[in-house]
Amino acid sequence: MSTIAFLNIAMHGHVNPTLPVVAELVRRGHSVTYHTSPMYSEQIAAAGATVRLYPGGDQPLPDPPTPVTMLDGLARTAVGLLPAVLSDLRDVRPDLIVHGAACPWGAVAARELGVPAAALFTTFAFNRYAPSPTHASWDLLAAAAIRPRNVQRYLRSRWGLHRRYDTRGLPLLDLANVRQPLNLIFTSRAFQPHADAFDRSFRFVGPSLGARPPVPFPAGRLRDPVLYASLGTVFNAGPGLLRTFAAALAPLGGTVIVSTGATDPVALGPLPDNVFAHRFVPQPEVLARAALFVTHGGMNSVNEAMYAGVPMLVVPQGADQPLVARRVAELGAGLSIRTEDATVGAVNALARRLLHEPCFRAAAATLRIAQREAGGYLRAADELESYLRRVGRSGRRAMANSPRER
Ligand code: UDP
Repeated sequence: MSTIAFLNIAMHGHVNPTLPVVAELVRRGHSVTYHTSPMYSEQIAAAGATVRLYPGGDQPLPDPPTPVTMLDGLARTAVGLLPAVLSDLRDVRPDLIVHGAACPWGAVAARELGVPAAALFTTFAFNRYAPSPTHASWDLLAAAAIRPRNVQRYLRSRWGLHRRYDTRGLPLLDLANVRQPLNLIFTSRAFQPHADAFDRSFRFVGPSLGARPPVPFPAGRLRDPVLYASLGTVFNAGPGLLRTFAAALAPLGGTVIVSTGATDPVALGPLPDNVFAHRFVPQPEVLARAALFVTHGGMNSVNEAMYAGVPMLVVPQGADQPLVARRVAELGAGLSIRTEDATVGAVNALARRLLHEPCFRAAAATLRIAQREAGGYLRAADELESYLRRVGRSGRRAMANSPRER
């Protein structure tokens, strides 16, 4: 049996799909460590991994969450965490490092220690046909021009990484999109744009959904049709947009559920009787009952909705969400609207179409099959095991020969 070290950034959307994979690897007898922040340690320990905490407590999210602040944050965090992470991993002596594609310090640690690595993509896989939101582009340049402080800090940290560590294989700019010889993508080939343009190192394993910690929720009080709205856990659009969703959906639904995330549900003000607003709901459970999902287009949320065969109205807030929204609409599983156009009337009219025109549910049902056939966490664990067999125990051997200090 092998020792596998997971490293990830501390965001729900990045951690959630890894938990069932960790639990499955542990069930198969592997020993798994997982570097994370205190906020996620309980869930990760419950999945069976030995938690290794990053120094410095919970990492702040990039604020505002834009490509430029994200790249700056990733480069700085890498410089700050690597000494402690490397020292931990020298004790762990992993056979394989598995890191989020947006966790560059996982890739640098693997290089430094000579351990084989695999990357996990919780958004699409990106290449020149499907460019990532953080790739070098005129848009990124324009965004950089108005945030010179982030650019300066990014360049300083990126230079620091290059000077201190073996950064071969690390993109010069796109630190949120770090590839390895094995890349697991948590969506189906059917949903991935230009799927044929990716070589066999990319495996589309589909959504990784397993048991989650229980969330208190009045499931018994739901009345069909259940309509669900959420803007995820990172983007805070404030109460206005959530109130718009509640008002637009209330006349169409038996029960309307609004997950308010960072916004206090009280801030939405008085709501119609059939609307429940909660900060956090058991989303896969809610989607299993839902007839419609109004979503920001976070990749996990959309994967989960397709897994449940639920049509979507996507209201992208940033990051990869405009790409996700475009793909949902292109495949006919939903519609998309810009935040500035999302009035009560417009959301109500689009929601009506999604509920009453059968083509949307039919397209969502086709994607439901693709998402389930992709294999999920079981296939992810199979792929990691077969990769481990291919690379052998070279990790341990390489570590035994790697210099302890540079
Ligand atoms: N989520 C949840 N309950 C909520 C809101 C979100 O369980 O009330 C979960 C959701 O199932 C998904 C993750 O949080 O797995 C959100 O990830 P996503 O990529 O959709 O969006 P992000 O929060 O990263 O913007």
